[in-house]
Amino acid sequence: MKVRRAKIVGTLGPSSNTVEMIEKLIKAGLNVARVNMSHGTHEGHAQLIQNIRTASKNINREVGILIDLQGPKIRTDKLPDGLQLKAGETWVIGQTKDIENYPEYKDCYIPTIYDKLVDDCHDGARILFDDGKLMAKAIERDRDVYKIEVIVGGELKSNKGINLPDCDVSAPAFTDKDREDLLFALKHNIDFVALSFVRRREDIMEVKSLLHKLKVNVPIVSKIEKPQAVEHIEEILDVTDMIMVARGDMGVEVGNHLVPSIQKDLIDRCNERMIPVITATQMLESMTDAPTPTRAEASDVANAIWDGTDAVMLSGESASGKYPVEAVQMMNDIIFEAEKKPKERPLLRHMDLSSVNSSLMVAASMIAEKVDAKRILALTEGGNSCLRISMFRPQTPVAAVTSSISAARKVCLYWGVYPFLIKEYPEDMSGYQKAVLAEARERMDLHNGDKVVITRGDGRYFSKGNSNSVKVDIIKDAPKVLGSHEVVEEAADEKKRIHLDLSVCATCQNCVSICPHDIWIADSKTKMTHLKEENIGACSMDMECVRTCPTGAIEIIPKFD
Ligand code: PEP
Repeated sequence: MKVRRAKIVGTLGPSSNTVEMIEKLIKAGLNVARVNMSHGTHEGHAQLIQNIRTASKNINREVGILIDLQGPKIRTDKLPDGLQLKAGETWVIGQTKDIENYPEYKDCYIPTIYDKLVDDCHDGARILFDDGKLMAKAIERDRDVYKIEVIVGGELKSNKGINLPDCDVSAPAFTDKDREDLLFALKHNIDFVALSFVRRREDIMEVKSLLHKLKVNVPIVSKIEKPQAVEHIEEILDVTDMIMVARGDMGVEVGNHLVPSIQKDLIDRCNERMIPVITATQMLESMTDAPTPTRAEASDVANAIWDGTDAVMLSGESASGKYPVEAVQMMNDIIFEAEKKPKERPLLRHMDLSSVNSSLMVAASMIAEKVDAKRILALTEGGNSCLRISMFRPQTPVAAVTSSISAARKVCLYWGVYPFLIKEYPEDMSGYQKAVLAEARERMDLHNGDKVVITRGDGRYFSKGNSNSVKVDIIKDAPKVLGSHEVVEEAADEKKRIHLDLSVCATCQNCVSICPHDIWIADSKTKMTHLKEENIGACSMDMECVRTCPTGAIEIIPKFD
């Protein structure tokens, strides 16, 4: 069964914002669409969100929507012409509105949109422009501007990012623009929100309490890109729902040489604490202009999978590149190959399994592996139990069975879990389970005799969203008429007739282990159980095999005449 476990997040933009293109991306493997609030207008974003929903509906595949808030990004302001900065030159940096107060600097003034830049800066601090392509050093403050010396020169254009890696930037992580963007996005029922330039716990708590007040349950993805965030990572992990290893700004802030080890460390911590993590930026960068990636990029994606990331992300490749569909398809293929050699999963003794939900989902995952189940059907209302099982990295694919569209979209980001939206919801649980099994059989590649593990919560003793029961079920037709040789094995002697109905056999091999006379044997390849005709004379008819058979597949009928 070809199922990819790690998920693909793709940024949508001018190259990929039509319904037709989004359909192609979803078919190629896109699980979550990222809408970047750093660019565009609310009107444009509303249209994009609508296009994502339409594409998803047209091809009947759920996709999550991740809104990425800009955060306190410092930028150069509008510059009619690019500025040519040369190494060794002195320039002045300040706010656009102050230019007129400094006529003496009019030919060397770099206008910015950030009002605290000069207060936040200090002598000797590095100032990086345009993703670190240009670099300067702060020399001295002159009233409300800072004199800087260019270390690495180049052309500086309008709206280019400015990073101050050595300074404590005082702007809040959640800006007024972010608040407006978030309120807009919530009206459009987005599924995840990413916060940029998070530095500490309080940055996340501010947004959490706003969401709490608004009574919306949208997971927060904290983007780790500042050295202060790396420093405060444990307190951030205490409160965030997910993180993103935002390697773009991180590389600028801490230096590219530190990015790989920080990436590994963040993923390890997240795996251990059962927090999903997205690895982002420049994963297939050269595919912005070329139909295939470099070998190094292909290895980068595979290595992120082996590090244990839950998802990998495309930025410019899918948003503004020439080959968005090829990039998603390539990511899909690389992940699929990498997952043939999975990372060792977390040790049970290192996991916090104190909640009923977590321990039950881990147990379900182990049962599924031991009985060779084809699927775990996790009946879920909010997707919480699916998150728990995902973090245990189950080998068995998990279908999140839910009638909640929002839960179905959330699980799109969970490793190894796929949404299984079901419309019917009969009142009683056994009716519901039957309906689920019937639909699972129809929509998944399940056959007679395949086992599935079903998890669910009963809602009576445990709060909504917590599973507290696990069951193994078997896909089966109504038992076939005895004597049909395709599905029934039978043998008889003068004392009894023995039947084994393969159409309902659970292949649990209880009969094989309980019978001392080798009447039942297991085929090691197919795992099917068979009746060994030549041994039936030894059968003592104690009926132990009939009793231990969970499905009634075995019948022993004594002959009395
Ligand atoms: C990054 O910096 O890696 C990132 C994902 O953020 P953005 O694309 O908003 O710069």
